[in-house]
Amino acid sequence: MTHFPINKFKELRTPFYYYDMSLLQETVASAKSAISERPNYHIHYAVKANSNRPILNLMAKNGIGADCVSGGEVQAALDGGIPASQVVFAGVGKADWEIKLALEANISCFNVESVPELEVINTLAIEAGTEARVAFRINPEVDAHTHAKITTGQAENKFGIAIADMLPIFERASKLSHIKVMGLHFHIGSQILQMAPFEALAERVNQLQAQLEAAGHHVKTINVGGGLGIDYLHPQTNPIPDFKSYFDCFAATLRLREGQELHCELGRSMVGQSGYMVSSVLYLKKGVNRQFAILDAGFTELLRPALYGSVHVAQNLTSPQAPISTVDIVGPICESSDVFEKEAHLPLPQRGDLIVFNSAGAYGEIMASTYNCRQLPTAYYSDTIDTVETH
Ligand SMILES: *Cc1c(COP(=O)(O)O)cnc(C)c1O
Repeated sequence: MTHFPINKFKELRTPFYYYDMSLLQETVASAKSAISERPNYHIHYAVKANSNRPILNLMAKNGIGADCVSGGEVQAALDGGIPASQVVFAGVGKADWEIKLALEANISCFNVESVPELEVINTLAIEAGTEARVAFRINPEVDAHTHAKITTGQAENKFGIAIADMLPIFERASKLSHIKVMGLHFHIGSQILQMAPFEALAERVNQLQAQLEAAGHHVKTINVGGGLGIDYLHPQTNPIPDFKSYFDCFAATLRLREGQELHCELGRSMVGQSGYMVSSVLYLKKGVNRQFAILDAGFTELLRPALYGSVHVAQNLTSPQAPISTVDIVGPICESSDVFEKEAHLPLPQRGDLIVFNSAGAYGEIMASTYNCRQLPTAYYSDTIDTVETH
């Protein structure tokens, strides 16, 4: 459980993000330990969940690779110390400069999402006098049973290549001079807590592999993407995701061939529970039937509640002993969607109380915006916060 340095928090200007680096290290260690007996399994951290430098540094130190979805992320991963040989690059709309940057860095693999993209990568690889390693992102048509806005693996989707187009793209690739096909890539969605969708994915991969082999194509890597969820409801008591079940599920279902590698791209599950968004109560406003705790943080700091209707457990750090009350927790942004939680139950917030939102490490700070001319939040880290100067 995270211990919050409340006295230090009181000296800092809210809102800000706080990262428990011990919990992060414990989480990464847990993921690594789940694959320790499986040397052909490789974890790439999905940088889009959180690209803060200390977090990338910690991943690098633990030998974790990077999954990137933009040129900026490729650069961030490299700057964070993750070697190019462990960087993969996905995304439906890779611009020429991004492809060039990745070719120049000699990243390990492009996850290619269309035939036109494959052609452009080949052309740019010829220009750069290098060879591009690629995997094809196939839509496995597996329903992840998660939120519609974070489901990605179904047939009609802007992401990936339809199963029907899989063999033609392999044929096309074999005719391109500067393309080396490494494998297959999948990503079915996010915040998946049941193993069934991953099992369904593994079974689909088995079928696709059989089809490929019948056509004479062999691949070295199977990349199953990310998507393992976290416990947003019980972040305190269940801070570390069940990596063991996740990898065991693939080990039990996926039929890897001799010498084949399994790659995965975990984002949320690696960083989600280690990050917190800390804000202060500005006003407690009483209406006729409801009361509102108006915070100094809004969707500009933490967008997920407004974007997906997700709930981050809110804790009153300052007055944990106050009587439990029912309040709508809202932000200051001039939009009615700027609500963190309606009818939340927490110790009655008073002006000045620190309110901490749990499980904000992934897709939290990284989605912050300056809407309403607000400042981007500062990040503090448990291992260095004591050295932060305040006035
Ligand atoms: C977002 C994304 C991931 C990470 O998803 P999580 O749910 O955070 O694990 C992995 N791979 C690709 C291609 C992605 O777009």
